[in-house]
Amino acid sequence: MKIHEYQARQLLASSGIPVPSGQIIESVDQAQAAYKAATGGTGLAVIKAQVHAGGRGKAGFVRLVSTPLEAETAARFMLSNRMISPQTPPEGLEVKKLLVASGVDIADRAGGGKEEFYLAITTDRSSRRNILIASREGGVEIEQIAHERPDAIIKVPLHPLMGLQPYQARDVAFALGFKGKQVGQAAGIMTNLAKLFIDKDCSLAEINPLVITAPTKAQPDGQVFAIDAKFDFDDNATFRHKDLEAMFDPSEENPAEMRAKRFGLSYIALDGNIGCLVNGAGLAMSTMDIVKLHGGTPANFLDVGGSATEEAVTEAFKIIVADPTVKGVLVNIFGGIMKCDIIAQGIINAAKSVGFKVPLVVRLEGTNVEAGRKLLENARAEIPTMQAATDLTDAAQKVCAAVG
Ligand code: GDP
Ligand code: MN
Repeated sequence: MKIHEYQARQLLASSGIPVPSGQIIESVDQAQAAYKAATGGTGLAVIKAQVHAGGRGKAGFVRLVSTPLEAETAARFMLSNRMISPQTPPEGLEVKKLLVASGVDIADRAGGGKEEFYLAITTDRSSRRNILIASREGGVEIEQIAHERPDAIIKVPLHPLMGLQPYQARDVAFALGFKGKQVGQAAGIMTNLAKLFIDKDCSLAEINPLVITAPTKAQPDGQVFAIDAKFDFDDNATFRHKDLEAMFDPSEENPAEMRAKRFGLSYIALDGNIGCLVNGAGLAMSTMDIVKLHGGTPANFLDVGGSATEEAVTEAFKIIVADPTVKGVLVNIFGGIMKCDIIAQGIINAAKSVGFKVPLVVRLEGTNVEAGRKLLENARAEIPTMQAATDLTDAAQKVCAAVG
C-alpha cells in the first residue's frame, strides 16, 4: 500500500524528522490563502501534486512560487492537467489534491548544484537484510545516477535485531559530506527513518530529497530537512496499523484490483491480452510462463485462492471479461481445496450474466473434476466460445492460437 506525500510528511514529522509545514487544497480558489498560510504572507512556497507517482518535478507538477497569484496559477495548471511521468500510465494521472508547503531555500553546493541527498530503507533480497541506501546525488536524477554511477550510492546492511546502529548512521552522514551540526541532524533522521520502517511494516521508506537549507546567522550550518518522501507498506500487515488504513486512498488504486480485493481475490493487471484465472500464486507463475513459452502474453492473473465461494468465482470471471484488452481467457485450475465444480459454476454464472465474447479455454484437474466437466458440458450452448483443454500445454497452445 502506498500513501500520498503529504501523509508521508505527517509520518516523518510524527517520528521527529523535520519537514516544512503545509496544507492540502482541492480547488484553485483555496490556493492564495494556502500560500499565505504557508509563507506568512510573502516568501517562497511550493505547490505539489499529490498522486501515487514520482517524477513530478520534471513533469511540472512541483512548482516554486513567490506570490499568491503564482500559487493560484500553479494550482490551476495542476488541477486541470493530467500528470504524465515515466512512473505513470501513458495517459497520466488525474490530480485531485495539492500540497501547499512553505518553500525551503536549499543551500548551494560547493562545485555546483544544490545540497540534495537521497535516503531510503528497504529490504535487500541478495543480502537478506534491510538496508540503508544513501546518496549525495539526491533529487530528480537519482534513478539515472543509480544506473550510470552505482558507486555514488551507499548501501549499508542493517542488523536483523539491532537495526541501524548509531555508528553506522554517523559513518553515512560523514560519507555524504555533512558537516558540523548537520552530522547529528542527518544521523538522527536516518535513525528515525529506520525505526519508522520497522514500526510501520514498510517495504520502502524513502526521503528524496533530504536537503540542507542555506546558512543563516542563527544557523550557520543550515538545517537538514526532508522535503519529499515516499512509503510503501506491506499489505499483509496493514491490519495492525489503523492509522495507516485511514490513509488509504482508493481513488489511486487500479479499479479492477480493488473490485477483486472486495471479494478476497488477488488480481494483478499486466500488459498482454490473455486473461488468466488460476488458483494459487505458484500456479499463476507457471501458467504465465507457459503462456509466454507459447508466444502469448498475459493481460492479468486472477488468483481465486483456495476458499473462494461460487459468488466470488463468478465475480472473478466478470472482472476478467470487463477488461477490453482481454482477447482470450485461460482458466487453469488444479483443484485441491478449491473444487472444480465451483469454478465451472462460476464460468456458467458469468456466461449467463455478462457472457464470454472472447475465446475461453478451460483446463480443470483435481477435486470434483468430473462434476465440473459435466456442468460445463451441459452448459456448452450458453458458452459457445469455450474449448476444453486436456493439460496445461494444450491449454496454453489453444488460447495463444485463439488470440492469434
Ligand atoms: P518529485 O519530482 O516527484 O520527486 O518531487 P520533489 O518533491 O522531490 O521535488 C522535485 C525537486 O523540486 C526537488 O528535487 C527540488 O530540487 C525541488 N524542490 C521541491 N521542493 C522545494 C523547495 O521547497 N525549495 C526548493 N528550492 N526546491 C524544491
Ligand atoms: Mn522526490
